Amino acid sequence: MNLKKKIIAANWKMNKTLPEGEKLRNQVLEGLKKIPHNAEPILFPSFLHIGNWQNLYNTTPNPPIALGAQNLGTEPNGARTGEISAHMLKSAHVEYVLIGHAERRTFYHEDNNSLILQKLQQAQQHNLKTIFCCGESLEIRKSKKTLEHLQKQLEPLKNLNNIHNPNILIAYEPVWAIGTGLIPDVKEIQNINTQIRKILHEIYLLPKPYLPFLYGGSVNEKNAQDILTHVDGLLVGSSSLHAEKFLQILAATQHKT
Ligand code: PEP
Repeated sequence: MNLKKKIIAANWKMNKTLPEGEKLRNQVLEGLKKIPHNAEPILFPSFLHIGNWQNLYNTTPNPPIALGAQNLGTEPNGARTGEISAHMLKSAHVEYVLIGHAERRTFYHEDNNSLILQKLQQAQQHNLKTIFCCGESLEIRKSKKTLEHLQKQLEPLKNLNNIHNPNILIAYEPVWAIGTGLIPDVKEIQNINTQIRKILHEIYLLPKPYLPFLYGGSVNEKNAQDILTHVDGLLVGSSSLHAEKFLQILAATQHKT
């Protein structure tokens, strides 16, 4: 990961058929040649696309987009129907994984720190960079328990405190902002960044190497520029499903370092 660039991650979630995904990926690749930007783009398509995109690596050994997986299994291999391992992902040019996304925590009951730790360990062992997602619900926010909640969610990371360069990026994604059109004030995002660093370095004693801080939740081509002034990158859901919008978000990084 290049810290002089803004990380712009596209989470496609459970969207796009094979031809639609290939088309969108190619539009992003083509668009990137034309727009000035200072971004390190990462696409997180579904597993289906990851398998299908190997053709890209045959023709373009270093494409200007990195490939990410939206999930990974807790085990290295074996009898885990429906799962995909870190080792398998690594063999398919995957560089990044998402761990702890709010939708997995909510819909698949993955708000479980021991399971999240197993995934983190798999990612670490296979040298996959991890975008570790955390964020509070509206209920927690209203009851002013956001920091306590984040501290609990971040707890699996304390097990990495003997790793000098853990290859972790933090994505703060308030659940109430995902897919709703609502976003926190940028001051609030900055404050959360400071608080998360305190939790990681002072409470969980993670080594000091800089952990990039991303914001996610209703980022679009209109608000990206403002938010980017305060963060190292963005995790983008619905606006990443439209080439035009996503390219505008990438272009918003132009004068940002
Ligand atoms: C997400 O789910 O990671 C996300 C940021 O979604 P959206 O941009 O649609 O709010």
